[in-house]
Amino acid sequence: MTNYDVAIIGGGIGGLMAAYQIMQNRPQSKVVILEKGYELEKRHCPAGKDKACLHCKICSITSGYAGAGAFSDGKFNLGTTYGGNIGSELGEDMAMEYITRVDKILEGFTPDYPPLYRSSEELKLKCLQHNLRLLDMNVRHLGTDRNLRTMGALIAHLKAAGTEMRTGAECLDIDEKDGAYELSLSPAEKIRTKCLVIATGRSGADFVKKTCQKFGVEMGANSVDIGVRVEMKDIIWREFSSQIYEPKILYRTKTFEDRTRMFCFNQGGLVSAENNHGVITANGHSFADADKKTENCNFAILSSIHFEGDFNKPTEYAENIARNMNFAAEGNIMVQRFGDLIRGRRTNAHRLQGGTVRPTMKAFPGDLSIVMPYRALTNIIETIYALDAVAPGTANDDTLLYGCENKYYSLCPKHNGDFEIADNMYLIGDGSGITRGLSQSGAMGLYVADRITGR
Ligand SMILES: Cc1cc2nc3c(=O)[nH]c(=O)nc-3n(C[C@H](O)[C@H](O)[C@H](O)COP(=O)(O)OP(=O)(O)OC[C@H]3O[C@@H](n4cnc5c(N)ncnc54)[C@H](O)[C@@H]3O)c2cc1C
Repeated sequence: MTNYDVAIIGGGIGGLMAAYQIMQNRPQSKVVILEKGYELEKRHCPAGKDKACLHCKICSITSGYAGAGAFSDGKFNLGTTYGGNIGSELGEDMAMEYITRVDKILEGFTPDYPPLYRSSEELKLKCLQHNLRLLDMNVRHLGTDRNLRTMGALIAHLKAAGTEMRTGAECLDIDEKDGAYELSLSPAEKIRTKCLVIATGRSGADFVKKTCQKFGVEMGANSVDIGVRVEMKDIIWREFSSQIYEPKILYRTKTFEDRTRMFCFNQGGLVSAENNHGVITANGHSFADADKKTENCNFAILSSIHFEGDFNKPTEYAENIARNMNFAAEGNIMVQRFGDLIRGRRTNAHRLQGGTVRPTMKAFPGDLSIVMPYRALTNIIETIYALDAVAPGTANDDTLLYGCENKYYSLCPKHNGDFEIADNMYLIGDGSGITRGLSQSGAMGLYVADRITGR
């Protein structure tokens, strides 16, 4: 049985950054990254504009080296206002120090590192005048293609530095034996490690839950976001995207006084599908290269639901809605024109083709209201009208809504203040329920690496 100093489960940005920093701090360490997905260059999603999701056993969008962020838009949010809670976990100054370090490391692997988009007072005011809150953030936009090159360079560096990098290696179980952890892998093999970093992202939610239950780690309550991916002509949001790249806007709805947010904006982008344990949800991304831009932009509108009292299964709840949406869309994502939703009729192929917005993803034309809960749908509709006040055209009849897009943040296992959930067992990144984005997950990886190596 092979012995390691540190085993990292998950090869997303959190796991990669942890490995990078451990090798920097203590180059002689024997470190392995276990990743259930494929090498970066072998990751390929067969779905696309004309083909629906094929429900691959290992989803190439969410799994493989560089994790769920590999084919993302590569937007690195260099702040703590959103993208996770490490600001409140570590304190603002410490969190910013680690986020800035992620940025510096990425710069070292990116010959053509792009400039920062900074927040705009003028747009903030415009939003405030319409009951909307534009969040402050400096954003580094790598774009999907450059992000892939940067991740490729980081992975090559880790291999050259002596990190053992395994693909197709899923960790199934963890046991504690004689002061070390024994990991059971698929294909069948056991390895031992003194220290363990779990960086399994959202796709590893079940694994984290099982591990926490096994090691008696208490799990806190959390919320879930249910919403849609919205697609329209790019020109409608260009005033915002040309200045700040990514508008992230909060709104309090009139009927329920719930908080909704406009989130994950992709200029010239594509709508994509994400497979979470066989449940297909919508997402979006865009390329930095001008020749790969589409004439559309897309973003999510999400309605947050908090659970209190006896029922506290936010992930299962949202997954059931997504599963029903897949069922009503014959195993696919559903798409509906905003005008059809408002008029209470389903979108059919004819109405979709007749619209001015050409869909960038092949989805099933239908009626979101047969599945989406009334409260969430009301919140989404009110948010679209509110956004229309600052970007007229958002509430156009031809605006497309893809359902559903969910963000799961459940669990939040209790940790010791340094993200250690059991002796020498650390839980980082999106799988911890603490982060929701690339920069903060990477920052958590660096932070934990410093703790492991005594820095
Ligand atoms: C389409 C899309 C677009 C996005 N765009 C952006 C963006 O522009 N900006 C941004 O900040 N964030 C974006 N995000 C979110 C971002 O990708 C995540 O926040 C980030 O990837 C989290 O990093 P992580 O390392 O914590 O987890 P992940 O990236 O999810 O990596 C976890 C890895 O662990 C592996 N794994 C899971 N379980 C096991 C196991 N048992 N054994 C072995 N391996 C396992 C998975 O295969 C995966 O590769 C996007 C996400 C998606 C899906």
